[in-house]
Amino acid sequence: MRVGSADGSPAVRPPVPPLLYLSFQGVPARGDVSTSKRHIVVHYHELWLKGGNRRFFLGKLLKALRKSLEDVGLAKLHCPGDRILIELAEGAPIEPAMDRVSRVLGVAYFAVAREAPRDDTDLELQGLCRAAWEEVEPLEFRSFAVRAKRSDKAFPRRTSEIEPIVGRFLLDRLRDAGRDVRVNLDEPEMTCRIEVTPRSVLVYARKIPGAGGMPANTAGRLMCLLSGGFDSAVAAYKMMRRGAHVSFVHFWGGGAQPGESSVHVARALVRKLVPYQFTATLFLVPFEPLQREIVNGASEEFRVLLYRRLMLRIAEKFARRDHSLGLISGDSLGQVASQTLHNMAAVGAAAEYPLYRPLVGDDKEQIMALARRIGTYEISAEPFHDCCPLFLPRAPALHAYPADLDRAESALDIAEFVRRGVEAAAKERFHFLEGRVEQVESFRAATA
Ligand code: ATP
Ligand code: MG
Repeated sequence: MRVGSADGSPAVRPPVPPLLYLSFQGVPARGDVSTSKRHIVVHYHELWLKGGNRRFFLGKLLKALRKSLEDVGLAKLHCPGDRILIELAEGAPIEPAMDRVSRVLGVAYFAVAREAPRDDTDLELQGLCRAAWEEVEPLEFRSFAVRAKRSDKAFPRRTSEIEPIVGRFLLDRLRDAGRDVRVNLDEPEMTCRIEVTPRSVLVYARKIPGAGGMPANTAGRLMCLLSGGFDSAVAAYKMMRRGAHVSFVHFWGGGAQPGESSVHVARALVRKLVPYQFTATLFLVPFEPLQREIVNGASEEFRVLLYRRLMLRIAEKFARRDHSLGLISGDSLGQVASQTLHNMAAVGAAAEYPLYRPLVGDDKEQIMALARRIGTYEISAEPFHDCCPLFLPRAPALHAYPADLDRAESALDIAEFVRRGVEAAAKERFHFLEGRVEQVESFRAATA
C-alpha cells in the first residue's frame, strides 16, 4: 500500500480512489458548484525571495494569480507571510480555479483548504479539530505533525496551543480508528496545516504540485524562433518558466492549397502559451521566396543551415525592435542533421544576440511530455505545411564549419534577403483577458 506520493503529500487511503487530485474526497468533482466560499493556499519557493527582490517577485506572482483568476470569481488574495491565500467568491467553482493556479509560474505547490467554523468561545477548538479530522481521515500516513500559522492575533489560542490541541485530537481519533500512527515533528509523512487569518480559519493537508519556476515576466525579454513542431513551443515555455517574456517569429511557406500553410499552427501555439505570460507578439515572415534564393544560389548540402542562419538574422531585427535580450530555438542535440554540434555552432555563429537552446540536452520523450502538460502537443501533432522540408537536400552536411557557410553566403545578398524578410512580415499581438486569449492588433495580414 502506498504511504506517500511523489510530491511529498500523503496518499489517500482506500476506498477513496487515488485518481486525479480532483477526485479526492472533499474536493468537488467536475462541474460541482459550491455554495460556500472556497480557499486555495499557494506556496512558492523561497529561492527567488532572497535579498531585496522579494517585493518585486512576489508582486509579479500576485499579479499573475490575480490575472489568471479574474474571471473565475476571485474574492480576495492576501499574503500573510510566506504563502498566499486565495479566497474565491461565494459559489465560485473550484475546478477552473485549480486549473488556473496549476499553470501559474512560480507556484511550488498549492492546496484546497477546508474552512473551519470559528467560535472564539470554543477554547477546545472543537470545530477546528473536526475540520482537521475530515481533512486527514482519508489520507494514508504513518507519522504526522500539525503546523499552525496565525495572522489574526485576536484568535483566542496561540499557535503553540493550537498545534498540540489539534494534534492530540487527531492522534486520539486515529488510534480509535485502529490506525498505527505517531506524531513526528521533524519528518512527518503528513502535515496538517492550519491558517488562522482575520477572515477565516483554514485547514489543509494535501499538496498539489504547481508549475514551479519563477514568476512570469521577471527576467526580461527573448525572441523565440517558433516552428509548428513540438520543440520550439516547449523551448519557449521553458524560458517563460524562468521568468522570460517571450515574443515569437514564425517563417512560413505557402501550402499547395490556400490556407494550408503553417501560419494557423504558429498562431494556435502562441495562443496556447499566452496565458503563462499574459501577452505575446508574433511576427510572421513569408519564407518561401527567400528559400528559393538560397536554393538557386548556394550549394545543396548547406541549404537547411543557410535557411536557419537567415532565420536568425531576421529574428534579430525583430528582437532589436522588441527589446529582446536574446533568441530561443528548439534545437536538441543530434535530433536532425542540422543539430549536430558542428552544425549548431556553424548556424549559431551567424547570430549576434545570445542564442538559447533550452532543449539541447533533452530527449524527445521529455519534450513531448512537457508539450502534453502545457497543451501544445495536440496543436503540433496536427499535420501542416512547413516551409523547411521545401527543397530539402538529398545529403545535408553533417559537420559544417562557420567558414563553409560564410563562403556559401558570399555568393548571396544576405543583407537584402534580411531586409525583404523584415519588410514582408506581419505582426500580431495577443493578450489574456478574463480567461480568454484575444488577438488585439494585427499589422498587415499574414495572407497564407
Ligand atoms: P521543432 O524543433 O519546433 O519541433 P522542427 O522539428 O520542424 O520544429 P527543426 O528542424 O528541429 O524544426 O528546427 C530547429 C529549430 O529551428 C526549431 O526548433 C525552431 O526554433 C527553428 N525553426 C525551424 N523552422 C522554423 C520556422 N519555420 N519558423 C521559425 N523557426 C523555425
Ligand atoms: Mg526539432
